[in-house]
Amino acid sequence: MDFLNTVDVEEGTDLLNQAANWHEWAKERGLSPDALRTVRTARDALRAAVGDPDAKAAPLVVPVHIELTAGAPTLSAPGALGAVLAAATRLAVLGEWDRVKICPADDCRWAFFDESRNRSRTWCSMRVCGNREKARAWRERR
Ligand SMILES: [Zn+2]
Repeated sequence: MDFLNTVDVEEGTDLLNQAANWHEWAKERGLSPDALRTVRTARDALRAAVGDPDAKAAPLVVPVHIELTAGAPTLSAPGALGAVLAAATRLAVLGEWDRVKICPADDCRWAFFDESRNRSRTWCSMRVCGNREKARAWRERR
């Protein structure tokens, strides 16, 4: 989620506009940063894959390793991007990929993990975007 939210539509900021910010992001998580251009394309492709209508889809091929060191196979990667995609793959294998969602509000687009039992959550926050949309629909009906 943190990786998907390196772009903040509401604030109009993109952490991946500057290599220094990206390097710091990766370092804070104990990961080694990949080339910025690749990472930005990958971030947008991942956002498109989870339903962001403003993100550009692109095929993505990133090397990931399978390690058998602690009694069970695990996915690992030398770089930050591989680590993110290993985590994404884990979600897909667990059947949880469709829980990763993008808030449909044009001015939000926040990525979130839908933990609801029936996976029906639409908005990043019912208190913020959900209510804003309800108010807008109400005004339009009047
Ligand atoms: Zn939202």
